[in-house]
Amino acid sequence: KKEAQDDSYFSAYADIGIHEDMLADTVRTNAYRLAILRCWEQIRGKVVVDVGAGTGILSLFCVQAGARKVYAIEASALAEETRKVVTANGMEGRIEVVCGRAEEVELPEKVDVIVSEWMGYSLLYESMLPSVIHIRDKWLKKGGMMLPSEATIYLAPIADVEVEDRLQFWEDIGSKYHVDMTALKPYAHRCVTRKVQVKPVEMEDILATPAKVVTFDLTTVSEEDLSCVQGAFSFSCYGWSQMQGFATWFDVLFPSPKPVLLSTSPYSEDTHWMQSVMSLDKPVQVTQDTRVSGVIKITPNSRNNRFLDMTLKYSIDDREEVERLYPMDDCR
Ligand code: SAH
Repeated sequence: KKEAQDDSYFSAYADIGIHEDMLADTVRTNAYRLAILRCWEQIRGKVVVDVGAGTGILSLFCVQAGARKVYAIEASALAEETRKVVTANGMEGRIEVVCGRAEEVELPEKVDVIVSEWMGYSLLYESMLPSVIHIRDKWLKKGGMMLPSEATIYLAPIADVEVEDRLQFWEDIGSKYHVDMTALKPYAHRCVTRKVQVKPVEMEDILATPAKVVTFDLTTVSEEDLSCVQGAFSFSCYGWSQMQGFATWFDVLFPSPKPVLLSTSPYSEDTHWMQSVMSLDKPVQVTQDTRVSGVIKITPNSRNNRFLDMTLKYSIDDREEVERLYPMDDCR
């Protein structure tokens, strides 16, 4: 079953569309380029591995930063095309496309630097971080560099009228056709809010200072650390508002004399990761200094470890504590 799940994962990446979306995300691609170029002193003359090279874009940046050799590992069928990109750039000698899974490939030497764009929605959805950890533990020289080197997940309480707008649809469509479709509203509500919704959140809708719930040091994090990720939060609301849910997002940090931050926050420029929203069953009125506190737990789904189970346990002021599971399954 794991094999079949991996096959469908890699066949998604064999399609060009997903790579268009990633390269068109200039916040993402520029952050990597800037971080790689700023690290030129650690990259020049060194050996790099690009884990999940895709179109090869990050490998090309590493050569621009002076890498002596880049191993571009790619498991999907796109690898054949990546070779053509390398040739067209005259970099056959410097970039070697290694077609295979990070867990299985053999490299001819240990490496000084690992670069990888492994992040998914909410950081860990469909995550390939375990594959990057595998390469790090097997092929990175002691004291070698990870790009990025740190990742943080954030959480904040939010206002979100979009769910209500979607339910309003069942009122409006009924008026339009002179029928009553409102009986579908409770069901529609359950469908929309059953799981994590990947969508943009406006910064105006954030109701309290966001909390860092988890930070990973990517030079030391282990696969075991990822089996149950957990963080506590305690918010104090800014003011009077309806609270409809919680949002999560992440950032990753690149080391260098001048560190680069790639942020997917609502306060930063939009990226293709957007934000992830977990809706409350019913809106709650909050006011200045309303306390929203609890714990978020993120675990790989037991049937498909590319999917996530997000569990929120929270209480709002002295209301009864609520615990709810929000699956993240087919979010693409
Ligand atoms: N580095 C590219 C692509 C990033 S997307 C860029 O920045 O544009 C992640 C890529 O990693 C996909 O192409 C996917 O097929 C590949 N990948 C994911 N897990 C992998 C693994 N275990 N081994 C090899 N490649 C993997």
